[in-house]
Amino acid sequence: MKRKISILGSTGSIGRQALEVIEKLNDKFEIIALTGGNNTELLNEQIKKFRPKYAYAANYKEVIGAEYATLEEICSNKENDIILVAVSGRIGLKPTITAINNGIDIALANKETLVMAGDIVMPMAKELGVKIIPVDSEHCAIHQCIKDIAQVDKLIITASGGPFLHKSIEEMKNATVEQALAHPRWNMGKKITVDSATLMNKGLEVIEAHHLFNMDYDKIEVVVHPQSIVHSAIEYVDGSVIAQLGLPSMHIPIQYAITYPDRFEGIKSKSFSFSQIARLDFEEPDWDKFKALKIAYQAGKTGGSATVCLNAANEEAVFAFLQGKIKLFDIISTVEAMMEKHNVIKNPSIEEIFSIDEDIRARSRELFVHI
Ligand code: MG
Repeated sequence: MKRKISILGSTGSIGRQALEVIEKLNDKFEIIALTGGNNTELLNEQIKKFRPKYAYAANYKEVIGAEYATLEEICSNKENDIILVAVSGRIGLKPTITAINNGIDIALANKETLVMAGDIVMPMAKELGVKIIPVDSEHCAIHQCIKDIAQVDKLIITASGGPFLHKSIEEMKNATVEQALAHPRWNMGKKITVDSATLMNKGLEVIEAHHLFNMDYDKIEVVVHPQSIVHSAIEYVDGSVIAQLGLPSMHIPIQYAITYPDRFEGIKSKSFSFSQIARLDFEEPDWDKFKALKIAYQAGKTGGSATVCLNAANEEAVFAFLQGKIKLFDIISTVEAMMEKHNVIKNPSIEEIFSIDEDIRARSRELFVHI
């Protein structure tokens, strides 16, 4: 039986790689729907090649070869066995909730879903028996290591350290957009690449891990591992540490998430060789240089709407940085300023989450004018 899948964000970095996986495993999948943002040209090429029943794009008039459907319609279509949520940003949240409400399993590549609304999404999925399989390589690694979460004492999330790992704070302060986008290990979208340069990405991943694996923040540790071979690890109560290793390729976690619990050769290009990896290094993160990580932990521990504020301020600031409006460290000071003023709501509803998100974004943009 073919697994019926829809991909939200098929023209993005994760979406394109997911289609490469599916192309290799074409006898295993049937595509129900593909959705894109503004790159309708690529979406149309994908439609021609993969023949989904439905498609959605921001500019739907240009979609050729598939029936138009909204994100909500696609996510409430029970033909789907699984939906890969690979859109970036808050746009992923509502469709994911719709899919969960319809009992459809989720391969989750959208961080905002859990950072903004983990306290709503995870209990809902649990109650409805919906699987949330992480695509993010670190969480995918932890997912692969865990047999019984009750016996796990600690999650160890690895971070490559990004392009500024061995640069001084001064150099990092004055970094250009180009330097921030030159990630040494991973080829990803622009927003997440800047987040990886500040280590905010790791902070968001700590929050994701807290929700996905229901683990206290005190039991989630971040370790810098520049080679990105150990994708993350867990420590059991008895001191045994289990790690997941592999070459740094997003194809592997994507394939794992959409084929789970099965495994196939699929996209595998070469065998892993310990002898070809000269060394594996690990070090503690520099908390002064990568303040974003500290702020993210604080937001996570505060809980409620604090992580909504963190995410919104950060995303707006990253966009402003990419447009050359502010410097790299202004991203962090923007987030700090917003967090300081934010009145935390304990258990925000989805509507409150979106309104806080909107409010923080508007205030952040006001701040950039004065920087
Ligand atoms: Mg990651």
